[in-house]
Amino acid sequence: MGCVQCSEGLAEFLQPFKRLPELPGLEHDPGGPVVCWFRNDLRLADNPCVERAIALAATGRACTFIHIFDPRFIDRSAYGRVTDPSFRLSIAQRKPVHFGNRKCGAIRARFWIRCVQALAEELEALGSELVVLHGRPEEIFAEYPQHALVICQEEPVSPEQCDVESAVEKSLAAQGSILRREWGSMSLYRREDLPLADKPGSYSGLASALGFQDVWTSADLTADAKQVPRPRPRPKGPWPKAPFGKADFRTTGRWYISREVLREEAATLSALGFSNEELSAALTSSCPEGGEKVAQKQLEEWCRTAGNDTSVARMEASWDLPVAKGSRSQGPDVMEWKNLSEGVGWTQTSKHLALGCISPRQLFWRTRSVQKHPGVVHRLIWREWHRLNAIVWGRRLFWLQGPGRVERPWKQDPDIAQAWKDGRTGVPYIDACMRELKATGWLAYKGRKTAGAFLVHNLGFDWRIGAFWYEEVLMDYDCAMNYGNWTTIARVDRGYAGNDFTDVGHKDLKAKLRAEYANDPEGKYIRQWVPELQNVSKEFLHWPWLEKKAPEGYASSLVGELDPFECDECGIKRASGGTLDSKAGMWYCETCVAKWKCEQDQKKLLGNLRQKGCRFPGYTEQEKSGDCAECKELGVQGFVDRFDAQFYCSKCWQQAGFARSEKPARPCPAA
Ligand SMILES: Cc1cc2nc3c(=O)[nH]c(=O)nc-3n(C[C@H](O)[C@H](O)[C@H](O)COP(=O)(O)OP(=O)(O)OC[C@H]3O[C@@H](n4cnc5c(N)ncnc54)[C@H](O)[C@@H]3O)c2cc1C
Ligand SMILES: [Zn+2]
Ligand SMILES: [Zn+2]
Repeated sequence: MGCVQCSEGLAEFLQPFKRLPELPGLEHDPGGPVVCWFRNDLRLADNPCVERAIALAATGRACTFIHIFDPRFIDRSAYGRVTDPSFRLSIAQRKPVHFGNRKCGAIRARFWIRCVQALAEELEALGSELVVLHGRPEEIFAEYPQHALVICQEEPVSPEQCDVESAVEKSLAAQGSILRREWGSMSLYRREDLPLADKPGSYSGLASALGFQDVWTSADLTADAKQVPRPRPRPKGPWPKAPFGKADFRTTGRWYISREVLREEAATLSALGFSNEELSAALTSSCPEGGEKVAQKQLEEWCRTAGNDTSVARMEASWDLPVAKGSRSQGPDVMEWKNLSEGVGWTQTSKHLALGCISPRQLFWRTRSVQKHPGVVHRLIWREWHRLNAIVWGRRLFWLQGPGRVERPWKQDPDIAQAWKDGRTGVPYIDACMRELKATGWLAYKGRKTAGAFLVHNLGFDWRIGAFWYEEVLMDYDCAMNYGNWTTIARVDRGYAGNDFTDVGHKDLKAKLRAEYANDPEGKYIRQWVPELQNVSKEFLHWPWLEKKAPEGYASSLVGELDPFECDECGIKRASGGTLDSKAGMWYCETCVAKWKCEQDQKKLLGNLRQKGCRFPGYTEQEKSGDCAECKELGVQGFVDRFDAQFYCSKCWQQAGFARSEKPARPCPAA
């Protein structure tokens, strides 16, 4: 392993990857009992660990399935979160960091429990059992029988989970046992097909290294593209019948969560250390069903409906699109760009992927025959991109300065941070987002991005405050995806030549608020989450500070009284009666719009006159003298053609059949 602090010495870090091909024989098998340790791969199909364990059980080996709730990934702990502001890389310099967060809030824990319950039931139906424990894996395994072979899916995107794997390896070694880490199918691609040693500089670069012709418009591949492995079927019995011995996990009762407890969500949550208060808040919110069957069913349903719905037309660029390339033409939108401006997500698979109830390979292959497959692939490659970065960046993923080693002033005021988390910033759209997130564990992509950028670029806050919070509350939390997206939003993923990205004058925020106003003019979303604004009319709902009387009980804006009607062209303030360019979120005053319209009219006129054979039509200004662009006479009286910006003498101008008096029918107020 490379430097544990930052993963420098990457070549060394990648050594174990090179040493272990995907399905080799088990040369070092100690020959004792087999343990299939489920982590974030809570499914039976397309799970190489399960497959291997079953194959060994079929030879008569004792085999146990376990899942462990590790308190360090649930409690308020700074585990793994270290930073080193002076880049000295010495362990003594490391400072544990946390902002009072839990690693996993009760809402996500509840969904996690549901997924574990579902797996336990699946195994039970097969006459087997899932042993569920709560404790540190390395301590649990230290008490397991000797000469065991423990098989698990490794999690190289999470430096913290890598630490756990190392600790388990060590404690098993003391017993003559070994940990067998499988690459599994958490990644879309095989390890050897990913450009780990020579990471491309961008998402598009990764896609082309994998063989996509243009991942922004289609899922078409080049002839020598890397192949996404087909998902492996669920292994067929004989399923091991949990042959527990004297020293099995259950006898160490302090960790054991019995089936009776596991069946009761409240009981399990409190066994995991959640307070009654946290527990009742989580139990009152609605929680989706979890597990492999549910995930598959949802995917089938999506393929049958939205995935094949080609009535959705392509749209032009919108403020939250990554790019607009390829999206302007007519026809069905197979990339489903539109989904990025909506609030409900799209395939809604992220939470199932995060817990491993479905694999990305299953998602890829099942949607192959579906119209919107290119959109699914586009997003799965984003997932792959963030995973690749996380593997290569290691602990730098958690640095304040990020992998880009960016130095900027960062604020950390806990009261303001709390106001952001609770949705009390005084900016209605941001507050609606943050309240939805806290109450449900879900927030659409654009909301995650907008609220994140607000914290970092409008409030100037330490981005990790946001990332730690999302980790606690997001139901689909995934280390690579969360921290990857956050470092991108905070612009610490690269150096960016020292640019500090402060949203000067909150111009960017205003554009986003106006775009949201265009998406949801009635403000339904805001009304749903911010009841204090119940009586505010829709004209003021997105910017209540413009109303004469401030709405009672609603916070005043943390970014001041932004003027959403400041013209983006001429800068005039409070220009009501202007026009919103809803795609870009820009606002233009009447005068600028008229000027713009006038130019449009002139262009039309120009087109008409050109068709009639006129050479120099256009809106002109008289010049005292100049050199004629047509007859080349020097120092003559004439006109500048507004469209080609050339000077023409009066004679040439008139010959062209256009006199200065022939202005466009509509006078230009801006001229
Ligand atoms: C600040 C921030 C934090 C995020 N944290 C997480 C997280 O912890 N876990 C998580 O799964 N997603 C995260 N995302 C990405 C994205 O918002 C969600 O994956 C997506 O909204 C889930 O909805 P869906 O399942 O309908 O995805 P779809 O739009 O149907 O996409 C299918 C799958 O592609 C992947 N995907 C889509 N968009 C992205 C993206 N931008 N980056 C990486 N993968 C993507 C996901 O696995 C998703 O399930 C984050 C985004 C931001 C801006
Ligand atoms: Zn203007
Ligand atoms: Zn001339």
